[in-house]
Amino acid sequence: MRGAESLEAALAPRLAEQRARVRYRQRHTTRGVGPRVHRDGRDWLNVCSNDYLGLAGDPRLADALAEGARRFGVGGGASHLVCGHSEAHEMLERRLAAWTGCERALLFSSGYQANLGVISALLGRGDIALHDRLNHASLLDGTRLAGARLERFAHGDAAACEARLAALESERRRLVISDGVFSMDGDCADLNALATHCERHDAWLMIDDAHGLGVLGERGAGTCDAQGLAPGRVPILVGTLGKALGTHGAFVAGSETLIEALIQFARPYVYTTSLSPALAWATLTSLDVVRDEPERRDHLQALVARFRQHGAGLAEVGLSPMPSMTPIQPLLITQHGEGANEATALALAQALEARAIWCSAIRPPTVPVGSARLRITLSAAHELADVDRLCEALYDAARQVIGQGGAAMPQRAP
Ligand code: PMP
Repeated sequence: MRGAESLEAALAPRLAEQRARVRYRQRHTTRGVGPRVHRDGRDWLNVCSNDYLGLAGDPRLADALAEGARRFGVGGGASHLVCGHSEAHEMLERRLAAWTGCERALLFSSGYQANLGVISALLGRGDIALHDRLNHASLLDGTRLAGARLERFAHGDAAACEARLAALESERRRLVISDGVFSMDGDCADLNALATHCERHDAWLMIDDAHGLGVLGERGAGTCDAQGLAPGRVPILVGTLGKALGTHGAFVAGSETLIEALIQFARPYVYTTSLSPALAWATLTSLDVVRDEPERRDHLQALVARFRQHGAGLAEVGLSPMPSMTPIQPLLITQHGEGANEATALALAQALEARAIWCSAIRPPTVPVGSARLRITLSAAHELADVDRLCEALYDAARQVIGQGGAAMPQRAP
């Protein structure tokens, strides 16, 4: 066809613009997983993985994976509804339901797919999806797939959510959606308040607790566990297996009716190969560790406390710690101006690289414009000395790149 744009001509300017806006993303090839990885021919202290409990490289999980592969298969061989639903999947779903206190759970191949699946199965054109403003991209994409009307409330503001619910009272279907722990900020939603408002206004509530499960609560059962919610108050709970649990995949937990409806109507569940049964089997071992080794969560909290203590003075050198008590500890760049934010974030990440510390610079559109940041994530596999090394490097890097003040790192605790 004459006049048609070539693929190259269409893509090249978009890539150039991405570069010009300092948004170009790069990936690195690694060996190993967790706090210490090998990359570009050297060893790194890694502070940007979501392997919160240090399980992704745990030999017990590797053994379970191998055993699972032999007993149940490496691949599922088909979608769950054809012939890809194995005993390993069934056992894991039962364990996940018991762990979260829900009637049933349903496995998905990833958290991204679970969110697409739930929202598109529950909502249709004209229905309301009421989001916290900082919800994860997959929740927004699910809303788009559903064709639902996107409404938002101010981040973390349950009262604003209630006001929107009241204003939308005449709508037939309203689904309130929030992250449990916000992936780029590390703060938690007030689940009690959201559940109360939804109950009062007959709205449905969906919580994506990708970053809370395994990490928060006495049993590690996530933000609901930490905030003392009775089972059932979050009728739609999404969790991923690829973060604290150290494997891959995801699940939705809820009532018998919810799960049956998802099996029937969630296209990202129906039209994809089942999660590897070997991985499902390995994840049962992850759940054993979450139950039997609470000391991992205690250690993680000690690392968070150490980071917050030693990092408190970073604001004086242009890096503001955010009010997070989870292993996600972002540092906002307090330097402003067009593009300065993104460029500073990148320069800081590079200054850390020079010290063999791998920390990702998070830029728009992943976070709102003007709020580029370093996103530090701690793992139970880190040691206190790693946090000290990280903090020292952060003070040095900030002084070098931002060049403000001369604040010294606070004295170490004895
Ligand atoms: N929800 C949230 C809040 C997330 O942070 C992520 C992962 N970045 C996902 C869902 C997607 O999960 P998965 O990686 O299992 O696709």
